Amino acid sequence: MTTNALAGIESSGTIAQNDVYIRIRTELLVIGDSIITDRHHASNNNYEDDDPQNQIGGIIPSFTLSGWLRHGMESVLQQHDTTACHPGEANANFKRDGVYERDLEAGYHEKGTCLDSTENGCLVFDLFGGFEDRPGKFMRRPIQFSPVWSTVDYTHGQAEGHYRRLNRNVVSRNVADNRQPLRNAELDAVANLDGSWQLTFRELKPEFIGLLAETIEYLDTHQTEFSHQLGGARNFGAGIVDCELINPLYEERELKRVFDRGKNATAAMEKKDTRWLEDCRPKFVRALETRITEGS
Ligand SMILES: [Zn+2]
Repeated sequence: MTTNALAGIESSGTIAQNDVYIRIRTELLVIGDSIITDRHHASNNNYEDDDPQNQIGGIIPSFTLSGWLRHGMESVLQQHDTTACHPGEANANFKRDGVYERDLEAGYHEKGTCLDSTENGCLVFDLFGGFEDRPGKFMRRPIQFSPVWSTVDYTHGQAEGHYRRLNRNVVSRNVADNRQPLRNAELDAVANLDGSWQLTFRELKPEFIGLLAETIEYLDTHQTEFSHQLGGARNFGAGIVDCELINPLYEERELKRVFDRGKNATAAMEKKDTRWLEDCRPKFVRALETRITEGS
């Protein structure tokens, strides 16, 4: 199997492989209590929260990642002076009055109203689906992580990462209490995450890749903005993500090489980088611009 998502696109106009990979690097990621660990299996039932020897791996569910990507795509579309589907139903009981209406004025349209004028809806709707029982056009897979680099398979959307359960204490401010804890909260966190996020397209349109390429660049540039950090604990610097679209022209062994600290890009990879940047990427971005201009 090749990971070359765009093989043959120029000669035949069809895309052989539908997998695209995003490199995700972050020092600290907190996504509530939703990290699924294999601690029981890995620790032989001797897991201690604070033992640095724990070899805990697990799975980062994709809901948070998907929301982060979607919000980035919405921002890119708005920069192109078009609107995106609001992620919430118009008739939902939102917690804050007026927020939904304000969102609509800030670059969104009511979810699904784009179907009134176009067959496939706006690009966000086309990609994410979720209305009138339409499935989205791409699958956002979870990221499986492990602290043991040699076991990480980047071609299957895996990452190196170190799981820790963090304890946060809210303590009394009264001097007489000597910082007596008032409340204790436990957080699941992954530190030093570096890996690939695998996106599998059920249907691949050139404008999808154009939007994805622009969005990943946008998210990388805006990584410290509160609204574009990933997951929780943003005020504590968590979820600042270095991200890049791994050259879709790469083959499997080249994709693996990206994550090998001991090796640099080969001459063939550099040639593909030039081809991607100078030839392929602009074509996909033009397809994106054409679709936006056509009002769909
Ligand atoms: Zn829409």
